[in-house]
Amino acid sequence: MKYIKWFKEITRKDINIAGGKGANLGEMTKAKIPVPDGFVVTSEAYYHFIKKGSLKNKLVTELKDLDTHDSKKLIKASKNVKTAILGAKMPEEIKEEIISAYKKLSSERDKEVAVRSSATAEDLPEASFAGQQETYLNVKGEKEVVKSVQKCWASLFESRAIFYREDKGFDHLKVGIAVPVQLMVQSDVSGIMFTVNPVTNDKDQISVEAAFGLGQPVVSGELTPDQYLVDKKSFKIIEKNIISQDWQLTRKGNVKVSSKHKKAQKLEDKLIVELAKIGAQIEKHYDFPQDIEWGQEGGVIKIVQTRPITTIKEMKSSEEIQIDDERFILEGLGASVGSAFGKVKILKGPKEISKIKKGDILVAEMTNPDYVPAMRRAAAILTSKGGRTSHAAIVSRELGIPCVVGATEALDILKNGEKITVDGSTGRVYEGDLVDELTEEDSSKSEEWEKLKTATKLYVNLGEPDLVPKIKDKILDGVGLFRAEFLIAQIGTHPREFIRKGKSKDFIRRLSEGMLVFAEGFSPRPVIYRATDFRTNEYRNLKGGDKFEGKEFNPMIGFRGASRYIADDDVFKLELEALKRVRNKKGYKNIHLMIPFVRTVEELEQVKKIISANGLRRSGNFEVWMMVEIPSNVILIEEFIKVGIDGISIGSNDLTMLTLGIDRDNEKVAEVFSELNPAVLKSIETVIKKSSKHNVTSSICGQAPSVYPELTKMLVDWGITSISVSPDVIGKTRKLIYDAEKDLISRKRK
Ligand code: PEP
Ligand code: MG
Repeated sequence: MKYIKWFKEITRKDINIAGGKGANLGEMTKAKIPVPDGFVVTSEAYYHFIKKGSLKNKLVTELKDLDTHDSKKLIKASKNVKTAILGAKMPEEIKEEIISAYKKLSSERDKEVAVRSSATAEDLPEASFAGQQETYLNVKGEKEVVKSVQKCWASLFESRAIFYREDKGFDHLKVGIAVPVQLMVQSDVSGIMFTVNPVTNDKDQISVEAAFGLGQPVVSGELTPDQYLVDKKSFKIIEKNIISQDWQLTRKGNVKVSSKHKKAQKLEDKLIVELAKIGAQIEKHYDFPQDIEWGQEGGVIKIVQTRPITTIKEMKSSEEIQIDDERFILEGLGASVGSAFGKVKILKGPKEISKIKKGDILVAEMTNPDYVPAMRRAAAILTSKGGRTSHAAIVSRELGIPCVVGATEALDILKNGEKITVDGSTGRVYEGDLVDELTEEDSSKSEEWEKLKTATKLYVNLGEPDLVPKIKDKILDGVGLFRAEFLIAQIGTHPREFIRKGKSKDFIRRLSEGMLVFAEGFSPRPVIYRATDFRTNEYRNLKGGDKFEGKEFNPMIGFRGASRYIADDDVFKLELEALKRVRNKKGYKNIHLMIPFVRTVEELEQVKKIISANGLRRSGNFEVWMMVEIPSNVILIEEFIKVGIDGISIGSNDLTMLTLGIDRDNEKVAEVFSELNPAVLKSIETVIKKSSKHNVTSSICGQAPSVYPELTKMLVDWGITSISVSPDVIGKTRKLIYDAEKDLISRKRK
């Protein structure tokens, strides 16, 4: 068949012909995830239809130069295009294929199917505005299926879809649409599952929402579902929030839920756990947190749809911010963090969206995709219905604006024009402007956290001398990574050029001046100076660099680190001279040396010899550290330690690159780069434990703990001596260390 592909023939690479949704369904079928069977009418069918019906000109004339912010014009253009598409004849060759596939799917008698839209630029990781095009449920019979496919094509030109494409800069003619046709699940219970906690972004929790009946009212926010939280490691249910349900959507329409069932738990425990396990399997398959629609029919779970969650932000502390209770008005569920102040504008329906001016607080029963243009202008969103995975919640998180959902009294209490503050972190709404109080509390919290006392040391990664005055007064135990490259880049000229001109002393002087800023600023706290680890491509950027540096195909695994110090020991000597000047002449004994990128034990031995031959000897007050950034360092850590070093520091950036075989500079493979990969974590754990066994200080200076707060707990558990992070997360990391240590002690007591 030319225009049809069965799910089992499709993989996630087929977005072009099957759209994001279709490609996902294919990928899941292949991965044995329980999705109902079906086929996709590919985007090629749609393009063929546009061509055969000579519709291109119509599209161009209607959409060219259209002012999408003029709601009236937008609606008119949308209507004209849709009428043209619905009025055109479906080409016989496409129709025949659809009918034959539908017959095969139905086997003996006509079965009910869902006919879905899957725009070929939709559902991609960078944007996921759900539900812009139409879905037709319970479609039965060949004629109806063919008609619904055509209606899906027309829905590519709903006004909200036109608006979205203009806004994101997509070419209308280049966005195609595929139509997955899938057997219906007549769900007894259905809902949404997020494979991370969507509010706190806790990656160790799965959130399941469930309601009786078909899933549409949960997705649209008309029904508030039960919420369950499941621990992703033990698959234990850790929280259940049972919500009373009055009505449900069935294939016959809305029906009442019997009084016996109203207050019942919607999904039994066994199935919650089974579902969570499928969720974890899907997340693992895609290696990314997912937003999943599911249904359960006769005790069997089916997955209807999955897409990546595009809105994961940094973990937020769940501690409540105490604030003036007199100004408190009402409360709902915090669904998107942050706070904003503005004028209340109540919308009774999407027709009123033009009421919202920039900076207003959009208040509505619930939002849907038609509200998006107004949501973009709003300072915050407040709804009276819906759960944390409803439309308002998802879109607000994507837009990065505060949102509170399920604030049941909002429409009764609030008045148009009233000025309020919405706090999306706690779900609380206040009278007047409290944004400053709320944010001030936040940053002072970070200062409070800095003051906490911990046994594990907290260091900072810093290279820029200009930042020293600002950072040195923070409560820190030292500088865990002082990257030499910043100083040398400021000097601007290749060190070998200084040597060639007989001006080595100038280089030493300038380097030592930079070192002094650090040693003096942080004294008496230790400063770990990491010897230069430019790659050849970076060295070439320095003045004179092209004279001395060859071109390498893979500079990341080329002439760098310890290998250079051995081959070019005259250049390395300049760094050692500068270091001696600061330590011996200026008397700052708190600056120490760290050697990066040491490939073999022999290299470490040779470099150590060069260091001591130049008058820097390891003693009580001069430490030599080695970075652990190559798998050989992990595998032979005890042999490296035997050579004689005072500390190791894990360079998780290079260690991840070399463990996973990913060039850090190559964005094509960047998606797979993760320091949380079990292979990397196991290496880090091994190194920390072995170092501690031999009484060698262990630290980490790659960016991993600055980016993944959850890593800090693991590092503390494994017994790391110090953690070095970027300046912006100093307070937060001290708090994480503090909590991890407290937890460790209480576990030991038990
Ligand atoms: C590392 O590799 O983790 C590291 C800290 O060094 P750099 O990023 O400078 O290679
Ligand atoms: Mg490195």
